[in-house]
Amino acid sequence: MALITCQEALDLVAAYIAAFSPRTKVDRLPLEQALGRVLAQPIHADRDQPPFPRSTRDGYAVRAVDHGVRRLVGSVRAGEVWTGAPLAQGEAIEVMTGAPVPEGADAVVMLEHVEVVPQGVSIADNHLPSAGDNVVPRGQEARTSDVLLRAGVRLTAAEIALAASVGAAELNVYVQPVAAILATGDELVSVDQTPAPHQIRNSNSHTLAALTRQNGGVPRVLSPALDSRESLLERLTAARHGDLLLLSGGVSAGKYDLVEDVLLALGAEFYFTGVFMQPGKPVVFGRLPATDIHAEQWIFGLPGNPVSTLVTALLFAMPMLRALGGESSPKPRFVQAALASAMKVRPGLTRFVPARLYSSLDVVSAEPVESHGSGDLVGNARADGYIVVPSDADSLTSGATVTVLLR
Ligand code: AMP
Ligand code: MG
Repeated sequence: MALITCQEALDLVAAYIAAFSPRTKVDRLPLEQALGRVLAQPIHADRDQPPFPRSTRDGYAVRAVDHGVRRLVGSVRAGEVWTGAPLAQGEAIEVMTGAPVPEGADAVVMLEHVEVVPQGVSIADNHLPSAGDNVVPRGQEARTSDVLLRAGVRLTAAEIALAASVGAAELNVYVQPVAAILATGDELVSVDQTPAPHQIRNSNSHTLAALTRQNGGVPRVLSPALDSRESLLERLTAARHGDLLLLSGGVSAGKYDLVEDVLLALGAEFYFTGVFMQPGKPVVFGRLPATDIHAEQWIFGLPGNPVSTLVTALLFAMPMLRALGGESSPKPRFVQAALASAMKVRPGLTRFVPARLYSSLDVVSAEPVESHGSGDLVGNARADGYIVVPSDADSLTSGATVTVLLR
């Protein structure tokens, strides 16, 4: 199969995601346990928001049309309601932030702009109120039964806050997707073993399990496969449970890169088997169709070099995992940044260059870190993300706007 561009590969994954039928399996959870999960129901406003005209300041509720010193007739705190007569011409009522603004008043003058005098309150000339000042009218943020959150949204602190504000003490979230994780390679030993000089610790299974958790999935880590057909066949069969299969290694053109062959023998179909990108060129995306005993399983064959595994997982596999968890149109996380120093690059492939981000209120800038290619986990850990160097660029000037893939 011919190689495709990185953008084509992203679009292909997005197209398969867009064709998903909605998830159906849900967990019902208390709000306290819902952080990071994907909402499986809409959340509605249970009443107008705010439920009363709310003062946004500590100050004095008045009528904007009035003039001169206002007679002070009372005070309302947050949690109280004004039970006296509606505010009449020339009157003021002291209000606190969050208090209901008494009927008859249409503005709140900030405490700081008022002088309390024997006859009442005198408003500074340069702070005379207009109707609506410092008052949020009832229902301005939302009306009773408005949809505030839709199914498919991942619950961060902002959504948890909103759900709490409308009394969603329990909510339905989608069941977490399961990612089967299978590393391949004769050279691999597990993290608790002492490798011989020619052996490598299996870090990729840990990378992929960590990414899976970060993206709301449940990892099912299998013991690695050897680079033989028998071993791959046996391990891939064992890995057949799970919505997604994340494979590392064995997808390059080498003599012992047998993953694609064995997947084909198991009935897999492939949507791409190589992308014009670096690192990650041999990356594979496909699917094992449903059988009598197994549900369909999406497959990502990720190149084994540890940085390739990470970058291709971030770009392609994690959006798919999040979609399998019910999230609406998940995308890789990109930001724009100003390049901190000029870069020379070789055109032809979309490159992902490990970089550190420096942020201020004015600008986010990205600076490549010292790194020695796609096997360099040391350089990789110095970075916050990857500068995306377009495939047609041969150099980038200092200050140029670049896209950065976050992890
Ligand atoms: P491969 O994609 O199988 O050709 O592997 C490319 C490189 O990545 C080789 O140097 C492997 O030793 C290394 N590698 C493959 N799998 C892993 C893994 N699970 N953990 C760490 N390094 C790996
Ligand atoms: Mg290998």
